[in-house]
Amino acid sequence: TKRREQVTIVSIGHVDHGKSTLIGRLLADTNSLPEGKLEAIKAYCEKNAKVFEYAFLLDALKEEQAQGITIDAARCFFKTDKRDYLIIDAPGHFEFVKNMITGASRADASIIVIDAKEGIRENTKRHGYLLSILGIANVCVAVNKMDLVNYEEKIFRSLQEEYTGFLSSVGITEVSFIPISARNGENIVHRSENLRWFSGRTLLEEIEQWKLEDESPKKDFRLFVQDVYKFTEGQDERRIIAGTIDYGEIHVGDRVVFSPSGKKSHIETIEIFPHSLERAYAGQSIGLTISDNFYYVSPGELLSKEGEKEPYVSKRFLAHVFWIENAPLLVNKPYQAKIGTQNVVLRITNIQKVIDSTDPQNITNKDKLERYDIGVCVIENTKPVVFDAGKDFKKTARFVIINEYHISGCGIILEPLEDKFVSL
Ligand code: GDP
Repeated sequence: TKRREQVTIVSIGHVDHGKSTLIGRLLADTNSLPEGKLEAIKAYCEKNAKVFEYAFLLDALKEEQAQGITIDAARCFFKTDKRDYLIIDAPGHFEFVKNMITGASRADASIIVIDAKEGIRENTKRHGYLLSILGIANVCVAVNKMDLVNYEEKIFRSLQEEYTGFLSSVGITEVSFIPISARNGENIVHRSENLRWFSGRTLLEEIEQWKLEDESPKKDFRLFVQDVYKFTEGQDERRIIAGTIDYGEIHVGDRVVFSPSGKKSHIETIEIFPHSLERAYAGQSIGLTISDNFYYVSPGELLSKEGEKEPYVSKRFLAHVFWIENAPLLVNKPYQAKIGTQNVVLRITNIQKVIDSTDPQNITNKDKLERYDIGVCVIENTKPVVFDAGKDFKKTARFVIINEYHISGCGIILEPLEDKFVSL
């Protein structure tokens, strides 16, 4: 049997605009709740003279999940005949941004919830802007609480116009807007008589038609060397190169290039313990042996294939930097960082602009990044490093800035700087 597809959706929106209610509704209306859960919460509310709220469902699920572990976001599952869904509610969204930039989390899609009565708030904009930086492909906007505005089309349309304008200013186009009432369950799974003027898809229909395209296997080959293990085979000391394929595929016999060293070799064997394979694909963690038993191979090198697009090798690059630590990031101060599996020391030599994430049109000039600022920064490393540009190869364009043992900032490389970068 084919494995069921799972779509990860991040739900965002200003507090009280109805995110939890919406998620509760989606779970309930797709019959995805644990047996008896809905009834139990309704009974509890009745007993305690509380009015039942769909948002309670989420609270209850959160509480269950939190037993014994700390979580920063609730994770809810629902499923349809077609596939499985995971909704991540990202209230502490800076944590979410950090996880997305560093690649710890992935999201395929996002639902932005806007309260029809309250309209667009700062957070709604900030979230939209962040989505654009993170490059989340599928975005839809649920205009909620339509019941509070008499289901008026005019209100919906004007919100749509305003927010579409904003989203397109940050590069997010092709966004569906759906008028809903999460509380009443209108246009979520079931259509609503009150919203007859709306001929578009319901929220669930919208979600169901999202296309997940993992382009990773189709792209040019990339593998960051994670570890190099020595082993002896008869008299020979051999090396096995371990790493996870970020992009593309590799076959036994392929010619490969190591960057930044520039050395070349070809693949002798591919192992996924305990098997030897002819080829491997993006997403697989593999061991490789190469034809020459070179000793130059060390963790941090990036493998690509000869004849395909090679990564950049340069000391300088331009990047989006998202700063998390309390103490500000200072220009010209050296920081420890990791690009893929490379350990580097870098400095921000120039901050071209600091984006106020609440209003991307509002660009300020500062010589430091304060907590939660996003800067477009010129970065210089102490030696040439290898990387890709984020628009093509997100996974190999990421870096984290590390202070002691925690992440103080993270970023996505936009492009190499100087035409001096070493060509291989
Ligand atoms: P969150 O902070 O975004 O998760 O918001 P909640 O889901 O907790 O909802 C905030 C409040 O708005 C609650 O009192 C909900 O009952 C209410 N609410 C949510 N959706 C709707 C809706 O469609 N119509 C109305 N009238 N109230 C809603």
